[in-house]
Amino acid sequence: MTDLHRLSIRELSEGLKQAQFSSRELTEHYLKRIAKIDAKVKSYVTVTAEQALVEADAADAAIKSGNAHALAGIPLAHKDIFCTQGIKTTAGSKMLDNFISPYDATVVAKAKAAGLVTLGKVNMDEFAMGSTSESSYFGATGNPWALDHVPGGSSGGSAAAVAADLAPIATGTDTGGSIRQPASFCGLTGLKPTYGRVSRFGMIAFASSLDQGGPMARSAEDCAYLMNVIAGHDAKDSTSVDKEVDDYVANLNGIAVKGLRIGIPKQYFNVAGLDADVKARVEESLKKLEEMGATLVEIDLNMTEAYVPTYYLIAPAEASSNLSRYDGVRYGYRCENPKDILDLYKRSRSEGFGAEVQRRILIGTYALSAGYYDAYYVKAQKVRRLIQQDFLKAFENVDVIAAPSAPTTAYKIGANLSPTEMYLGDIYTLAVNLAGLPAINAPVGFDKDNLPVGLQLIGNYWSESQLLSIVHQYQQNTDWHTKRAAIAEENA
Ligand code: GLN
Repeated sequence: MTDLHRLSIRELSEGLKQAQFSSRELTEHYLKRIAKIDAKVKSYVTVTAEQALVEADAADAAIKSGNAHALAGIPLAHKDIFCTQGIKTTAGSKMLDNFISPYDATVVAKAKAAGLVTLGKVNMDEFAMGSTSESSYFGATGNPWALDHVPGGSSGGSAAAVAADLAPIATGTDTGGSIRQPASFCGLTGLKPTYGRVSRFGMIAFASSLDQGGPMARSAEDCAYLMNVIAGHDAKDSTSVDKEVDDYVANLNGIAVKGLRIGIPKQYFNVAGLDADVKARVEESLKKLEEMGATLVEIDLNMTEAYVPTYYLIAPAEASSNLSRYDGVRYGYRCENPKDILDLYKRSRSEGFGAEVQRRILIGTYALSAGYYDAYYVKAQKVRRLIQQDFLKAFENVDVIAAPSAPTTAYKIGANLSPTEMYLGDIYTLAVNLAGLPAINAPVGFDKDNLPVGLQLIGNYWSESQLLSIVHQYQQNTDWHTKRAAIAEENA
C-alpha cells in the first residue's frame, strides 16, 4: 500500500486489527517517508528506526493474540522534551545534546504500554522557549505548507512531522501556546488539556505551573484517541489530578452544538496586529458553528492587555529556577578545562544555553531577586489570579470561548522578530495556561498565501471532551482538516 499515511487513527486501528497491513509494514512505510522527505522538513532530531521495528513486531504479535490496545502498532513521534529511556532527549539544546535519560516520561511509558510505536524524537525551540522552533540548537524546521516558513513553536517538529505525514500523531507540550500555535501554523488539530490532566513526570521542565502535555494530530478524533492513552492521574506528578478520565473517543458526538453558547471576547478581535485573513477565516468558522446551531455571545475579557506582561514574568521566573540544575556538574554540557568551580558554572551555562534561554534566565532571576520580588513576581501572581477570575466570570454565561490561536499565519524562517514582537504573537494563547484551562486549535482555512489559519476554543476546567466533540462535529461538516500540504502528497 502506498498511501497508508493517509489513514486516520481509527482507520489504522481497524486496518491493523483486520490484518489488512501489519504494524511492521506501517512502521516501515513511515520510516521510508522520513528517510526521503524529512531531509527537506527537518522535523526529527532523532529517528529510532531499529527500535521502532522491534516495537512494531511486538505490536503485531499482540494484535494477533487478540488482546491488544486499540492503538497497538500505530506509530507516533514524541516532542524531544519527553524523556525516553535509552534514547537521546535534547530539549532542543546544546546543554542536553548528549543526554540519555535513565527513565521514560509517564506519557512515553503510557504510549509504550498501549503498544504505540515510537518513530523518534522531534524538534522544538530550546527548552520550549519560543514560537518558531528556530531557537533549537539543531536548526530550524520547515513548515510543510511552505518550507521557507516556520512551523510555529515550541512544538514545531511535532506539527511539521504530522503535517508532512511523517507521523500520524505526535505529542507536544504547551506552556504558553506551544501545542495550539504550531497546530494553527501547520493546519492541525491540537489540544492543550487542563493543567493536571496529563502527567508532567519526565517532561523536561520549563515553567512548572504552566507546562502541560497533549496530542497533536490531523483531527479531533485522532487527538481523542491519543488523549485516551496519555490522560490520567500519576502518583509521580504531585500536580496531576486524581479525577476520572473521560472516554474521549466515545464522547466525540456527545456534546450538542445546537444550543451551545460560544463567547466572543470583544477585546480579542480588536488586537493590533490581528491579520485580516486570520480574522476573516475565524469569523467564517464561527458562522459555520452558528449554522450548526450554536449561539454567539459577545463577552468581555478585560484583562487582555495583562496577558503578555504577566506570562513573560511568571514563565521566566519559573524557568530561571528550573534551569539552575544545569550547572555542568551532574549531567548535560560541561565546558572544557574549567579554571575553578565558578568558571565551570559560568562557561558551561553560557556555552550550553542559547540566546533566548539566557534572556529568560536573566529576566526571571531579576524578577525573583530580593528587592524586586514583590514588585514583579508577587504582583504578576496577583494579576494571574485576576485573569483566571475574568475567565470564570465569562463561563457563567457561555460554554466555550472562541479566539484566533495566533494573530498571524506562519512567519518566514529568519524573519528575526525582536523578542517583544515574538512575545506579542502569543497574545491569544498565554492566558489559558495562566488560568490552567483547556483549549483546542482547529484548522479553519487559509490566508492569501495558502498558509493555514486556526480557530481556538477555550473551555472551562476538565472540558476536554466538550472541546474535542465540538471540533469533531465541525470537522464532520467541513473539510479543512483533510487538506494536505503538497509535500505530504509526495510518496517515498
Ligand atoms: N511562545 C511561548 C514562549 O516562548 C510559549 C512556549 C510554550 O508554550 N512552550 O514562552
